[in-house]
Amino acid sequence: MGLTGILVIEEQCTGCGVCVGACPFDAIKINDEGIAEIDEEKCTLCGACVDACPFDAIEMKRGESSVEIDKDDYSGVLTFGEINEGELSKVALEMLSVGREIADKRGVKLSSVLIGGKELEKHAKTMINHGADIVYYIEDESLFHFNDELYAEALGKLIEEVKPEVFIGGASAVGRALLPRVAATIKTGLTADCTELDIDNETGNLLQTRPAFGGNIMATILTPNHRPQIATIRPRVMPVPQETEKNGEIKKFDFDTTTFKLSKIIKEAVILSEEEVNLHEAEVIVSAGRGVGSKENLKLIYDFAKKLGAAVGASRAVVDAGWISYPHQVGQTGTTVAPKVYIACGISGAIQHQVGMRSSDIIIAINSDPEAPIFDIATYGFVGDLNKIIPELMKKI
Ligand code: FAD
Ligand code: SF4
Ligand code: SF4
Repeated sequence: MGLTGILVIEEQCTGCGVCVGACPFDAIKINDEGIAEIDEEKCTLCGACVDACPFDAIEMKRGESSVEIDKDDYSGVLTFGEINEGELSKVALEMLSVGREIADKRGVKLSSVLIGGKELEKHAKTMINHGADIVYYIEDESLFHFNDELYAEALGKLIEEVKPEVFIGGASAVGRALLPRVAATIKTGLTADCTELDIDNETGNLLQTRPAFGGNIMATILTPNHRPQIATIRPRVMPVPQETEKNGEIKKFDFDTTTFKLSKIIKEAVILSEEEVNLHEAEVIVSAGRGVGSKENLKLIYDFAKKLGAAVGASRAVVDAGWISYPHQVGQTGTTVAPKVYIACGISGAIQHQVGMRSSDIIIAINSDPEAPIFDIATYGFVGDLNKIIPELMKKI
């Protein structure tokens, strides 16, 4: 067994075979001597067999980087209150609804942390009115623009002091860049892109559910040995809690940014133009596929989106063709979206596209091929030429 590895303690193994059935990766067999044997090529170190063995005959050693912690030292739920260029984001409020549920189940306080350059006390009050009991804020001019290094360092320091058992944030562009860095800084685990969170009150383990294997199964992931348990949650999955005038504590957390060595300095942030709307926040998305035919013909999609007040998405084929920029790409290697309405225009519905949009409430497909896979997941479908169907729909709106 190396620094990180798994070992069968032969003296304790009875050859009962329980571990063989428990291993999801078919990595264990009972050898000729009647002892469990683990195929290290197949083993993913998931730990299922360690828990399953009734004789404590399997031992797993974790890497040197892991830290021994006393889980009882950690209490409370902390959410990340994302601020973009001075504005409190909607996803910051969404985190408070799921944070509140978990905090209530555990009988602990719900806290949030805000990081930014100015006016954070104003946003802290908004967070309290949406359910936070305590809001920590880290305010410094140098923190106005999002900088993953600096923000992660600041959050790491706050977490070491506050010691929450759970830390959650939105799986937005910022959250996806920041929270994994925080997890690495404080040496704990993270589950990205969850669609559901719950907590096992007995163990305190956060049940972090997310789609896996191309969206074919929902996996519930635990972080049993480390704290805090960090998860990012897809935007627009959780509701924004109702706003009520309420009291809470607002605490400034001091963080010395001058001693920190940065590999990059953000001097200016350029907000994408209006048509490059944030796909995460959009309630309606009109998405273009190769079936649109040409870059010029994308005008039809933009006009349709404008009429609906929608954001414009695209398949990878359209991005690869250079018809539209990458921030529009929906799918496995693009953005994951879950709007109320997703209109797929001339998109075949490859699995890599579907995983990025199949959680949309309503999916409308427009495609000339009735056999296109997009119709398998569409709520409503139009079979025909999008050049005829879209203008007809626009007339009716
Ligand atoms: P096509 O598959 O070519 O489909 C075009 C559709 O338009 C067809 O169904 C056709 O019937 C229809 N059509 C044609 N003309 C008309 C018309 N006049 N009116 C109506 N319908 C019409 N793809 C993504 O989208 N996002 C990703 O993130 C992504 N990541 C990937 C990652 C990997 C590792 C790999 C291997 C692939 C990835 N892909 C991704 C690519 C994916 O497999 C598909 O190739 C891509 O989604 C196809 O795009 P499309 O549906 O626009 O084009
Ligand atoms: Fe041996 Fe434990 Fe596996 Fe049984 S479950 S075969 S005792 S390692
Ligand atoms: Fe199988 Fe997981 Fe045990 Fe490895 S750690 S042998 S993958 S059950």
